[in-house]
Amino acid sequence: MTVSGPAPRAILFDIDGTLLRSRGSARVFDDTMEQVFGIRGDLGSIRPDGMTDPHILAALLDGRTPRVGSVTPRLLATFEVALARALAAAVASGAVTFWTLPGVEGLLTELSRRQDMRLGIVTGNMRATARVKLGAVALDGYFRGGGYGSDSPVRDQLPGVALRRMSQAEEIVFEPRHAVMIGDTPHDLAAARAHGMRCVLVATGQYEHGELAAAGPDVLLEDLSDGARVLDAILGEE
Ligand SMILES: [Mg+2]
Repeated sequence: MTVSGPAPRAILFDIDGTLLRSRGSARVFDDTMEQVFGIRGDLGSIRPDGMTDPHILAALLDGRTPRVGSVTPRLLATFEVALARALAAAVASGAVTFWTLPGVEGLLTELSRRQDMRLGIVTGNMRATARVKLGAVALDGYFRGGGYGSDSPVRDQLPGVALRRMSQAEEIVFEPRHAVMIGDTPHDLAAARAHGMRCVLVATGQYEHGELAAAGPDVLLEDLSDGARVLDAILGEE
């Protein structure tokens, strides 16, 4: 495939606290954990924001023995399917609600029209769960690939996974130095830096503005509502 001009840059979005927020989903996580591992977790007892789901499970199971002995890849896959099903059912029944954060639809529409950008996902959610969440708010059509908690418990590895998947899907090599991560926690920033990527943080999740500023992102925004400002932040023109 011949591409004229510079290759498009990959814009990688986190999900929770960046694109959307939810009500009621923590309980579904705890219920599914009990169903699969035989131990009831309490998501409210830790600060899960920015952690991968396998990392969250490990933290909640720390020192406790699940009835299955250990958390194997097969069990994680079982958890992924069970959680995705439970979340989808809870969305259908109204027990869980997802909503997009300010400016998100307009921004994704705008960016996805540009020839010089492709959009991807980097999230600690397992892949099936990410699909349910994005589908619940009709955002699943914007992204060309992603890196998920089901790919690795180590978030810092996920931007590389996302870029590889996008490169395969598009037959274009997406370079980390031209990619940009957009997230809502210092974990998103650390994952971006692990790949030498630019990072824009937004204060629409559970982390306070001051905590995010202290982490040292390239740009910190209150939200994604000002499309021109977000674009400048992505392009490094602010
Ligand atoms: Mg997040």
